[in-house]
Amino acid sequence: MTKIAVAKGDGIGPEIMDAVLNIFKAADVPLEYELVDMGKWVFDKGFSNGMTPEAQATIENLGILFKGPMETPKGKGVKSVNVTARKTWNTYANKRTFQTLHGVDTVFSKAGIPIDVTIVRENIEDTYGGIEHMLTHDVALSRRFITRPGSMQVIKYAFEMAKKKGAKRITCGHKANIMKITDGLFLEVFYEVAKEYPELKADDVIVDDLCMKLVSRPDLFDVVVLTNLQGDIVSDLCAGLVGGLGFAPSANIGDHICIFEAVHGTAPDIAGKNIANPTALLLSGFGMLRHLGLMQKAAMIENALLYTLESGVHTGDFGDKSKASVNTTGFANAIISNFGKLPAHNPRPMLEDKPATQTVYKLEKNPLIMSKEMEGEVIVGVDLFIESAEQPKEVAEKLLKHTGDLFKLVTISNRGTQVWPKGSIFTNLVNQYRCRFESIEDMPLTQVDILELYKRTMVDFKICSTELLNMWGDKKAYSLAQGQ
Ligand code: NAD
Repeated sequence: MTKIAVAKGDGIGPEIMDAVLNIFKAADVPLEYELVDMGKWVFDKGFSNGMTPEAQATIENLGILFKGPMETPKGKGVKSVNVTARKTWNTYANKRTFQTLHGVDTVFSKAGIPIDVTIVRENIEDTYGGIEHMLTHDVALSRRFITRPGSMQVIKYAFEMAKKKGAKRITCGHKANIMKITDGLFLEVFYEVAKEYPELKADDVIVDDLCMKLVSRPDLFDVVVLTNLQGDIVSDLCAGLVGGLGFAPSANIGDHICIFEAVHGTAPDIAGKNIANPTALLLSGFGMLRHLGLMQKAAMIENALLYTLESGVHTGDFGDKSKASVNTTGFANAIISNFGKLPAHNPRPMLEDKPATQTVYKLEKNPLIMSKEMEGEVIVGVDLFIESAEQPKEVAEKLLKHTGDLFKLVTISNRGTQVWPKGSIFTNLVNQYRCRFESIEDMPLTQVDILELYKRTMVDFKICSTELLNMWGDKKAYSLAQGQ
């Protein structure tokens, strides 16, 4: 018996979790469950991360969390319990599989176009760091972290998973044509890892084009890997292709702890009525059973689910409306009664059971992940973000008084578009400028030089934020302003 942690969650969570665990019990799945206190109700008791210390210790000890949806408490500054859990345990890869299910009618199933797409979304970084500030009363800033080791972890996972799955194609979705440094780094790492997998066709598609292609020819895609926000949006788009969130499973994979959950939320509008669809959580459960090596149980129950869907049994949120729907318990019972039956379409093969995927639970200290050594780094300038309601020319005149012997003022931009030394009168302004100072003749600068410039500039302006401009050898580690 393998022991796992189970958090039933809020809203419909307990109903769908009970339905799934009853199916597992009826199938003699060799798992033991330790219930942990997690969710909005735990948050309401004063635990700001939405879990008790005992729950955290249990999950860290067992390594597997099977969870129902959890409500995000309302209010500014309050973080989602779900996102906190994924980040706390560095479950860096969010895997979501979207497949045609016969009995779940969609535009594509009616057109005979099969869908089998797996989206791997980076789960920790990007704007989901939630590092946000108001720079002025009018200007908000979100910091978007894309790191080399973070990208490496998720992309390596995606390639390894694609290889094990027997995928033919792996695609990187990105916006590196605009976000050249952040998405550029993600794309660079993708092709670096691709070299180790010559058997997989690796390519990339710009994310907007990817969305268009996914809705017109989803059958052309196999595994798609994306950064966090883009992956979040594209995976919900894919859920729509196969019948909605009720059919979207998700696995949050880390080296030490994995979380299996449905993509949908707590569905407060139908909570407590025993009418929710447990399919997405059950599909997530199959991912968990396979992660634990229980291939035969997963295939047997999945075949019973597929048979049940094919036979037209459905909860109220999908299926043939001319046929009466069943409730959550009735749906689970129908699956149990179909154990041993095979669906007409795509029966899952009875693969040999395997040892559970290895994870390391006991750690002495936080692991620091580094994939590249620092190399020949020189500071050659600084971007000072200042607050000002003046016109660019007046801002420049004041700044030019402060450059001293070491700096030259190179460009001033507003919302990323250059407005000085050249620009257009038609560029709308907000009361916050990015002012770029570079060293004269690319002389290396020190942080003290930057501090002195800062002190001189703050005589005239409030400085809201500062970024160093670094060179690595002959490579600029920063982007140019639009129009620079
Ligand atoms: P939701 O997914 O809960 O509901 C959207 C719609 O889909 C509703 O009409 C709901 O009735 C329906 N629906 C969802 N799951 C269903 C199911 N299994 N069966 C039948 N119908 C289903 O999204 P929401 O209303 O935006 O969010 C509600 C709460 O859930 C929020 O507090 C949100 O933060 C949270 N949430 C949690 C998770 C998670 O735990 N991973 C994910 C998303 C949202």
